[in-house]
Amino acid sequence: MVKIVEPRVEIYPLGQIEEIKRHIERCGRTCYKSEDKITDTSAEQFVEGILKSGHESVIEHANLIFEVDNTDENFGKIKEIASKVQGFRYHQSESELLASGNMRTFRDISRLGYSDFDEWFVKNGLGVFANQGNQTRALSGEIKLEKVQYLDKNDDRDDLNNITIHMITNLSCYKDITRHRLASFSIESTRFCNYSKGKYGSELTILKPVNLVAGTPEYEEWQSCMNDVERHYMKMCELGCRADQSRLCLPHSIKADVIMTANVKEWKHIFNLRCDKAAHPDVRKVMLAALELFHNEGYKTFDELYAKFLPDIEEFRGK
Ligand SMILES: Cc1cc2nc3c(=O)[nH]c(=O)nc-3n(C[C@H](O)[C@H](O)[C@H](O)COP(=O)(O)OP(=O)(O)OC[C@H]3O[C@@H](n4cnc5c(N)ncnc54)[C@H](O)[C@@H]3O)c2cc1C
Repeated sequence: MVKIVEPRVEIYPLGQIEEIKRHIERCGRTCYKSEDKITDTSAEQFVEGILKSGHESVIEHANLIFEVDNTDENFGKIKEIASKVQGFRYHQSESELLASGNMRTFRDISRLGYSDFDEWFVKNGLGVFANQGNQTRALSGEIKLEKVQYLDKNDDRDDLNNITIHMITNLSCYKDITRHRLASFSIESTRFCNYSKGKYGSELTILKPVNLVAGTPEYEEWQSCMNDVERHYMKMCELGCRADQSRLCLPHSIKADVIMTANVKEWKHIFNLRCDKAAHPDVRKVMLAALELFHNEGYKTFDELYAKFLPDIEEFRGK
């Protein structure tokens, strides 16, 4: 019998540079369901392995905001870098010049031949992210860390601020949600996870559907289908298939752990599309829950959206 679980959303918080490697490890190990391998000292080696294998999307889950000397020359250079590198954002006011990017953005800046951020990483215990090739400085003056991931919960510079969440959802939902190109994702891998093994309870875990009501004939039919799928999956494993072969029979309802990071501007765009009645109910369920969570955590910038979707949030709470 398949195991049926409820959808769920939580924030993966990040606020200190000392937590960056651990945060990335926590996000990345979701893909392999190897969270049990996390120890006090495993993060550095995990990040090294990720970088060596070229699986760089995992390091997109950590974002840094820097202050650089507010000169015309620096502003010109920042704009030039932003035009060449994905995810590099900036804000200039009379009093400050801020620049923000995730760890992958900074590696790409380094690949352009600029050493500024690498030098800062090496000095601040994040040398594992530095390329350390033949580079020159782009910016003049000192680079100072302003904040990790988020300026503060009252700040509305939406494109500088990032939030990471962990969702328990299904394949159908992440198929839709991963269409959002400016967000970053790490997803449980059905290629690596072999659900016939004891580690996974030798069973399939299936997400409870939002748009089928337990006890109805339609729900019974769906549940019976899920149990049939499990039988076929386990049989394929028994016949010697690897997970990447047996997974070919997995359904849209299969549970997936998804880590998703986006800046607030993109989160707002996604909520507008995915909390709306036009979106699939499984997607609405997790996106409405995420919006409610952000509101409850005190991110003021979401107040307007929260008010707009409050009736939907209330409707979906019990589903
Ligand atoms: C109700 C609904 C039904 C849908 N149905 C289908 C369907 O039947 N089939 C299907 O294939 N998809 C479907 N989609 C997916 C949809 O077409 C988008 O791919 C998805 O919603 C991502 O949103 P986005 O393109 O607005 O922006 P994101 O990818 O979230 O990007 C954010 C913004 O960045 C900018 N941007 C990002 N990349 C580019 C680019 N390459 N060029 C120019 N600007 C860019 C745009 O301004 C964009 O609004 C559906 C989505 C919804 C909400």
